[in-house]
Amino acid sequence: MRILITGGAGFLGSHLCERLLNEGHDVLCMDNFFTGRKANIAHLLGNPQFELFRHDVIDPFKAEVDRIYNLACPASPPHYQYNAIKTIKTSVMGAINVLGLAKRTRARVFQASTSEVYGDPEVHPQPESYWGHVNPIGIRSCYDEGKRVAETLFFDYHRQNGVDIRVVRIFNTYGPRMLPDDGRVVSNFIVQALRGQNITIYGDGSQTRSFCYVDDLIEGFIRLMETTGITGPINIGNPGEFTMLQLAELVLKKVGGPSKITFHPLPSDDPKQRQPDITLAKSQLGWEPKVTLEEGLEKTIAYFRTIVG
Ligand code: NAD
Ligand code: UDP
Repeated sequence: MRILITGGAGFLGSHLCERLLNEGHDVLCMDNFFTGRKANIAHLLGNPQFELFRHDVIDPFKAEVDRIYNLACPASPPHYQYNAIKTIKTSVMGAINVLGLAKRTRARVFQASTSEVYGDPEVHPQPESYWGHVNPIGIRSCYDEGKRVAETLFFDYHRQNGVDIRVVRIFNTYGPRMLPDDGRVVSNFIVQALRGQNITIYGDGSQTRSFCYVDDLIEGFIRLMETTGITGPINIGNPGEFTMLQLAELVLKKVGGPSKITFHPLPSDDPKQRQPDITLAKSQLGWEPKVTLEEGLEKTIAYFRTIVG
Protein backbone atom coordinates (compact mmCIF):
# COMPACT_ATOMS: atom_id res chain seq x y z
CA MET A 1 0.00 0.00 0.00
CA ARG A 2 0.94 3.67 -0.31
CA ILE A 3 0.74 5.17 3.14
CA LEU A 4 0.90 8.85 4.10
CA ILE A 5 2.07 9.73 7.61
CA THR A 6 1.66 13.35 8.66
CA GLY A 7 4.05 14.27 11.46
CA GLY A 8 6.17 11.34 10.25
CA ALA A 9 9.49 12.83 11.39
CA GLY A 10 8.36 13.09 15.01
CA PHE A 11 8.81 10.64 17.88
CA LEU A 12 5.86 8.33 17.14
CA GLY A 13 5.77 9.06 13.40
CA SER A 14 9.37 7.94 12.84
CA HIS A 15 8.71 4.59 14.55
CA LEU A 16 5.57 4.15 12.46
CA CYS A 17 7.44 4.96 9.19
CA GLU A 18 10.06 2.37 10.10
CA ARG A 19 7.53 -0.33 10.97
CA LEU A 20 5.45 0.20 7.79
CA LEU A 21 8.56 0.17 5.56
CA ASN A 22 9.63 -3.09 7.22
CA GLU A 23 6.25 -4.51 6.26
CA GLY A 24 6.95 -3.64 2.60
CA HIS A 25 4.74 -0.57 2.14
CA ASP A 26 5.52 2.68 0.33
CA VAL A 27 5.67 5.45 2.94
CA LEU A 28 5.18 9.18 2.32
CA CYS A 29 6.36 11.15 5.31
CA MET A 30 5.05 14.71 5.64
CA ASP A 31 6.38 17.07 8.30
CA ASN A 32 6.94 20.77 8.89
CA PHE A 33 9.79 19.95 11.34
CA PHE A 34 8.32 21.96 14.21
CA THR A 35 9.13 19.22 16.74
CA GLY A 36 10.23 16.54 14.28
CA ARG A 37 13.81 16.03 13.16
CA LYS A 38 15.49 14.73 10.02
CA ALA A 39 17.76 12.71 12.33
CA ASN A 40 14.71 10.61 13.33
CA ILE A 41 14.25 9.38 9.77
CA ALA A 42 17.78 9.83 8.34
CA HIS A 43 18.28 6.06 8.34
CA LEU A 44 15.21 5.65 6.09
CA LEU A 45 16.18 8.19 3.42
CA GLY A 46 18.11 5.69 1.28
CA ASN A 47 15.10 3.37 1.05
CA PRO A 48 13.44 3.77 -2.40
CA GLN A 49 10.05 3.07 -0.80
CA PHE A 50 10.40 6.11 1.48
CA GLU A 51 9.61 9.70 0.46
CA LEU A 52 9.96 12.75 2.68
CA PHE A 53 8.33 16.10 2.00
CA ARG A 54 8.28 19.29 4.02
CA HIS A 55 4.72 20.56 4.23
CA ASP A 56 2.42 22.09 6.81
CA VAL A 57 -0.71 20.01 7.40
CA ILE A 58 -2.81 23.18 7.75
CA ASP A 59 -2.28 23.81 3.99
CA PRO A 60 -4.20 21.52 1.60
CA PHE A 61 -2.23 18.91 -0.33
CA LYS A 62 -2.78 16.16 -2.87
CA ALA A 63 -1.44 12.62 -2.93
CA GLU A 64 -2.69 9.27 -4.20
CA VAL A 65 -2.69 7.00 -1.18
CA ASP A 66 -4.45 4.00 0.39
CA ARG A 67 -3.92 4.87 4.05
CA ILE A 68 -3.37 8.13 5.96
CA TYR A 69 -2.07 8.30 9.54
CA ASN A 70 -2.61 11.84 10.84
CA LEU A 71 -0.03 12.41 13.57
CA ALA A 72 0.94 16.03 12.83
CA CYS A 73 0.63 18.03 16.07
CA PRO A 74 3.10 18.90 18.82
CA ALA A 75 2.44 16.63 21.81
CA SER A 76 4.49 18.03 24.67
CA PRO A 77 2.81 20.78 26.76
CA PRO A 78 5.67 23.33 26.38
CA HIS A 79 5.68 22.76 22.61
CA TYR A 80 1.93 22.91 22.06
CA GLN A 81 1.62 25.97 24.33
CA TYR A 82 4.46 27.78 22.52
CA ASN A 83 2.05 28.86 19.77
CA ALA A 84 -1.41 27.87 21.01
CA ILE A 85 -3.25 29.25 17.97
CA LYS A 86 -1.03 27.29 15.62
CA THR A 87 -1.66 24.14 17.68
CA ILE A 88 -5.42 24.36 17.40
CA LYS A 89 -5.17 25.19 13.70
CA THR A 90 -2.95 22.16 13.20
CA SER A 91 -5.50 19.83 14.80
CA VAL A 92 -8.60 21.33 13.18
CA MET A 93 -7.36 22.32 9.71
CA GLY A 94 -5.09 19.28 9.59
CA ALA A 95 -8.12 17.05 10.22
CA ILE A 96 -10.14 18.84 7.53
CA ASN A 97 -7.29 18.41 5.03
CA VAL A 98 -6.64 14.72 5.68
CA LEU A 99 -10.38 13.99 5.68
CA GLY A 100 -10.82 15.85 2.37
CA LEU A 101 -7.98 13.82 0.91
CA ALA A 102 -9.48 10.58 2.25
CA LYS A 103 -12.87 11.48 0.81
CA ARG A 104 -11.40 12.06 -2.66
CA THR A 105 -9.03 9.07 -2.73
CA ARG A 106 -11.21 6.73 -0.61
CA ALA A 107 -8.19 6.14 1.58
CA ARG A 108 -8.71 4.91 5.13
CA VAL A 109 -7.73 7.68 7.54
CA PHE A 110 -6.43 7.39 11.11
CA GLN A 111 -6.45 10.14 13.72
CA ALA A 112 -3.94 10.27 16.56
CA SER A 113 -6.23 11.52 19.31
CA THR A 114 -5.29 11.59 22.94
CA SER A 115 -6.21 10.74 26.51
CA GLU A 116 -6.31 14.54 26.93
CA VAL A 117 -9.85 14.47 25.49
CA TYR A 118 -10.77 13.17 28.98
CA GLY A 119 -9.23 16.30 30.57
CA ASP A 120 -8.83 16.07 34.34
CA PRO A 121 -11.00 12.94 34.56
CA GLU A 122 -13.66 12.34 37.18
CA VAL A 123 -14.02 8.72 36.06
CA HIS A 124 -11.10 6.40 36.73
CA PRO A 125 -9.81 4.49 34.78
CA GLN A 126 -11.11 6.16 31.63
CA PRO A 127 -13.27 4.12 29.21
CA GLU A 128 -14.02 5.41 25.70
CA SER A 129 -17.63 6.04 26.73
CA TYR A 130 -16.52 8.79 29.18
CA TRP A 131 -17.10 12.25 27.67
CA GLY A 132 -14.39 13.95 29.66
CA HIS A 133 -13.82 16.94 31.93
CA VAL A 134 -11.95 19.54 29.89
CA ASN A 135 -11.44 23.23 30.63
CA PRO A 136 -12.32 24.95 27.31
CA ILE A 137 -10.37 28.16 28.07
CA GLY A 138 -7.22 27.04 29.91
CA ILE A 139 -3.61 26.74 28.79
CA ARG A 140 -4.05 23.09 27.73
CA SER A 141 -7.26 23.80 25.77
CA CYS A 142 -5.53 24.51 22.44
CA TYR A 143 -4.44 20.89 22.47
CA ASP A 144 -7.37 19.18 24.23
CA GLU A 145 -10.15 21.02 22.43
CA GLY A 146 -8.30 20.91 19.10
CA LYS A 147 -8.13 17.12 19.40
CA ARG A 148 -11.80 16.97 20.45
CA VAL A 149 -12.87 18.96 17.37
CA ALA A 150 -10.70 16.72 15.21
CA GLU A 151 -12.58 13.69 16.58
CA THR A 152 -15.88 15.43 15.82
CA LEU A 153 -14.76 16.12 12.24
CA PHE A 154 -13.70 12.50 11.78
CA PHE A 155 -17.11 11.22 12.88
CA ASP A 156 -19.00 13.84 10.82
CA TYR A 157 -17.05 12.95 7.64
CA HIS A 158 -17.74 9.30 8.43
CA ARG A 159 -21.51 9.79 8.89
CA GLN A 160 -21.99 12.39 6.15
CA ASN A 161 -19.53 11.22 3.48
CA GLY A 162 -18.85 7.58 4.35
CA VAL A 163 -15.16 8.22 4.98
CA ASP A 164 -13.44 5.13 6.41
CA ILE A 165 -12.02 6.37 9.74
CA ARG A 166 -10.01 5.06 12.69
CA VAL A 167 -9.60 7.12 15.87
CA VAL A 168 -7.10 6.15 18.56
CA ARG A 169 -6.86 7.80 21.98
CA ILE A 170 -3.19 7.57 22.90
CA PHE A 171 -2.12 7.59 26.55
CA ASN A 172 1.34 8.84 27.58
CA THR A 173 3.90 7.07 25.42
CA TYR A 174 7.68 7.14 25.72
CA GLY A 175 10.77 5.66 24.11
CA PRO A 176 13.81 6.37 21.95
CA ARG A 177 13.65 9.51 19.74
CA MET A 178 11.76 11.67 22.21
CA LEU A 179 13.54 15.02 22.16
CA PRO A 180 15.87 15.49 25.14
CA ASP A 181 14.42 18.98 25.70
CA ASP A 182 10.90 17.88 24.90
CA GLY A 183 9.50 18.83 28.31
CA ARG A 184 7.59 15.58 28.78
CA VAL A 185 8.17 13.86 32.05
CA VAL A 186 9.96 10.65 31.01
CA SER A 187 12.53 12.41 28.81
CA ASN A 188 12.96 15.22 31.37
CA PHE A 189 13.68 12.85 34.28
CA ILE A 190 16.04 10.61 32.30
CA VAL A 191 18.01 13.50 30.82
CA GLN A 192 18.22 15.25 34.20
CA ALA A 193 19.48 12.04 35.85
CA LEU A 194 22.05 11.41 33.10
CA ARG A 195 23.37 14.97 33.43
CA GLY A 196 23.47 14.74 37.24
CA GLN A 197 20.95 17.59 37.45
CA ASN A 198 18.11 17.71 39.95
CA ILE A 199 14.89 15.92 39.04
CA THR A 200 12.05 18.43 38.61
CA ILE A 201 8.76 17.16 39.99
CA TYR A 202 5.85 19.53 39.35
CA GLY A 203 3.49 19.71 42.34
CA ASP A 204 3.91 17.13 45.12
CA GLY A 205 4.41 14.25 42.69
CA SER A 206 1.22 12.45 43.68
CA GLN A 207 -0.40 12.93 40.24
CA THR A 208 -0.47 9.74 38.19
CA ARG A 209 0.13 8.77 34.57
CA SER A 210 0.19 5.42 32.77
CA PHE A 211 3.20 4.99 30.47
CA CYS A 212 3.20 2.92 27.29
CA TYR A 213 6.38 1.90 25.48
CA VAL A 214 6.46 3.06 21.85
CA ASP A 215 6.70 -0.42 20.24
CA ASP A 216 3.51 -1.54 22.01
CA LEU A 217 1.70 1.59 20.85
CA ILE A 218 2.73 1.18 17.19
CA GLU A 219 1.48 -2.42 17.24
CA GLY A 220 -1.87 -1.09 18.50
CA PHE A 221 -1.96 1.56 15.72
CA ILE A 222 -1.50 -1.03 12.99
CA ARG A 223 -4.03 -3.43 14.45
CA LEU A 224 -6.61 -0.64 14.64
CA MET A 225 -5.89 0.58 11.10
CA GLU A 226 -6.11 -2.91 9.59
CA THR A 227 -9.12 -4.22 11.53
CA THR A 228 -12.26 -3.95 9.42
CA GLY A 229 -15.63 -2.84 10.68
CA ILE A 230 -14.52 -0.59 13.53
CA THR A 231 -13.95 3.15 13.79
CA GLY A 232 -12.90 3.65 17.42
CA PRO A 233 -12.41 5.78 19.36
CA ILE A 234 -10.26 3.24 21.11
CA ASN A 235 -7.83 3.70 23.99
CA ILE A 236 -4.28 2.48 23.46
CA GLY A 237 -2.06 2.73 26.50
CA ASN A 238 -0.50 0.78 29.31
CA PRO A 239 -2.78 0.49 32.37
CA GLY A 240 0.19 0.39 34.78
CA GLU A 241 -0.35 3.59 36.77
CA PHE A 242 2.49 5.42 38.58
CA THR A 243 2.83 8.64 40.55
CA MET A 244 5.44 11.10 39.28
CA LEU A 245 7.34 10.52 42.53
CA GLN A 246 7.47 6.77 41.81
CA LEU A 247 8.65 7.50 38.27
CA ALA A 248 11.40 9.81 39.53
CA GLU A 249 12.58 7.19 42.03
CA LEU A 250 12.60 4.46 39.38
CA VAL A 251 14.60 6.60 36.94
CA LEU A 252 17.10 7.51 39.67
CA LYS A 253 17.48 3.86 40.64
CA LYS A 254 18.18 2.89 37.00
CA VAL A 255 20.50 5.77 36.08
CA GLY A 256 22.27 6.27 39.42
CA GLY A 257 24.30 9.45 39.95
CA PRO A 258 24.04 12.43 42.29
CA SER A 259 20.64 13.90 41.24
CA LYS A 260 18.21 14.91 43.96
CA ILE A 261 14.43 15.14 43.69
CA THR A 262 13.15 18.76 43.77
CA PHE A 263 9.60 20.10 43.79
CA HIS A 264 8.27 22.93 41.56
CA PRO A 265 4.89 24.60 40.98
CA LEU A 266 2.28 22.46 39.25
CA PRO A 267 1.20 23.92 35.87
CA SER A 268 -2.49 24.85 35.72
CA ASP A 269 -5.06 22.26 34.60
CA ASP A 270 -2.52 19.45 35.06
CA PRO A 271 -4.64 16.26 35.27
CA LYS A 272 -4.44 14.56 38.68
CA GLN A 273 -4.78 11.00 37.45
CA ARG A 274 -4.85 9.08 34.23
CA GLN A 275 -5.18 5.39 33.42
CA PRO A 276 -6.61 3.78 30.29
CA ASP A 277 -9.40 1.24 30.40
CA ILE A 278 -8.19 -1.06 27.58
CA THR A 279 -11.11 -3.52 27.60
CA LEU A 280 -12.09 -2.47 24.05
CA ALA A 281 -8.55 -2.75 22.66
CA LYS A 282 -8.28 -6.25 24.14
CA SER A 283 -11.62 -7.45 22.77
CA GLN A 284 -11.69 -5.66 19.39
CA LEU A 285 -7.99 -5.71 18.47
CA GLY A 286 -6.62 -8.57 20.60
CA TRP A 287 -4.09 -5.97 21.78
CA GLU A 288 -2.45 -5.41 25.14
CA PRO A 289 0.92 -3.91 26.06
CA LYS A 290 3.84 -6.28 26.59
CA VAL A 291 6.69 -4.01 27.74
CA THR A 292 6.82 -3.14 31.45
CA LEU A 293 7.83 0.34 32.61
CA GLU A 294 11.15 -1.05 33.96
CA GLU A 295 12.02 -2.67 30.59
CA GLY A 296 10.90 0.34 28.58
CA LEU A 297 12.85 2.75 30.77
CA GLU A 298 16.00 0.66 30.31
CA LYS A 299 15.70 0.88 26.50
CA THR A 300 14.94 4.60 26.67
CA ILE A 301 17.81 5.32 29.05
CA ALA A 302 20.16 3.39 26.73
CA TYR A 303 19.04 5.64 23.85
CA PHE A 304 19.49 8.88 25.80
CA ARG A 305 22.96 7.77 26.95
CA THR A 306 24.00 7.85 23.28
CA ILE A 307 22.82 11.42 22.68
CA VAL A 308 23.12 13.22 26.03
CA GLY A 309 26.54 14.33 27.19
P1 NAD B 1 6.12 14.88 18.24
O1 NAD B 1 6.05 16.30 18.62
O2 NAD B 1 7.43 14.16 18.36
O3 NAD B 1 5.63 14.66 16.74
C1 NAD B 1 4.72 15.49 16.09
C2 NAD B 1 5.20 15.67 14.66
O4 NAD B 1 4.25 16.50 13.95
C3 NAD B 1 6.55 16.39 14.58
O5 NAD B 1 7.37 15.74 13.64
C4 NAD B 1 6.18 17.79 14.12
O6 NAD B 1 7.22 18.45 13.44
C5 NAD B 1 4.97 17.51 13.26
N1 NAD B 1 4.09 18.66 13.11
C6 NAD B 1 3.61 19.49 14.08
N2 NAD B 1 2.81 20.42 13.55
C7 NAD B 1 2.76 20.18 12.21
C8 NAD B 1 2.11 20.82 11.13
N3 NAD B 1 1.36 21.91 11.31
N4 NAD B 1 2.29 20.33 9.87
C9 NAD B 1 3.08 19.23 9.67
N5 NAD B 1 3.73 18.60 10.66
C10 NAD B 1 3.57 19.07 11.92
O7 NAD B 1 5.00 14.13 19.09
P2 NAD B 1 4.59 12.59 19.16
O8 NAD B 1 4.71 12.15 20.57
O9 NAD B 1 5.29 11.81 18.12
O10 NAD B 1 3.04 12.68 18.83
C11 NAD B 1 2.51 12.31 17.57
C12 NAD B 1 1.00 12.41 17.61
O11 NAD B 1 0.47 11.55 18.63
C13 NAD B 1 0.49 13.82 17.92
O12 NAD B 1 -0.66 14.06 17.13
C14 NAD B 1 0.12 13.74 19.37
O13 NAD B 1 -0.91 14.65 19.70
C15 NAD B 1 -0.34 12.30 19.51
N6 NAD B 1 -0.21 11.83 20.91
C16 NAD B 1 1.02 11.49 21.41
C17 NAD B 1 1.12 11.07 22.73
C18 NAD B 1 2.42 10.64 23.35
O14 NAD B 1 2.45 10.31 24.53
N7 NAD B 1 3.53 10.59 22.62
C19 NAD B 1 -0.04 11.00 23.53
C20 NAD B 1 -1.24 11.37 22.99
C21 NAD B 1 -1.33 11.77 21.67
N1 UDP C 1 6.01 16.63 35.08
C1 UDP C 1 6.91 16.72 36.13
N2 UDP C 1 8.18 17.15 35.87
C2 UDP C 1 8.62 17.42 34.61
C3 UDP C 1 7.70 17.28 33.52
C4 UDP C 1 6.41 16.90 33.80
O1 UDP C 1 6.57 16.46 37.29
O2 UDP C 1 9.81 17.75 34.46
C5 UDP C 1 4.64 16.16 35.37
C6 UDP C 1 3.53 16.99 34.74
O3 UDP C 1 3.20 18.08 35.58
C7 UDP C 1 2.42 15.97 34.64
C8 UDP C 1 3.16 14.65 34.38
O4 UDP C 1 4.50 14.87 34.80
O5 UDP C 1 1.72 15.86 35.86
C9 UDP C 1 3.16 14.24 32.92
O6 UDP C 1 3.61 15.33 32.15
P1 UDP C 1 3.83 15.26 30.59
O7 UDP C 1 4.10 16.65 30.12
O8 UDP C 1 4.83 14.20 30.27
O9 UDP C 1 2.44 14.72 30.00
P2 UDP C 1 0.90 15.16 30.21
O10 UDP C 1 0.78 16.10 31.36
O11 UDP C 1 0.52 15.79 28.92
O12 UDP C 1 0.23 13.88 30.49
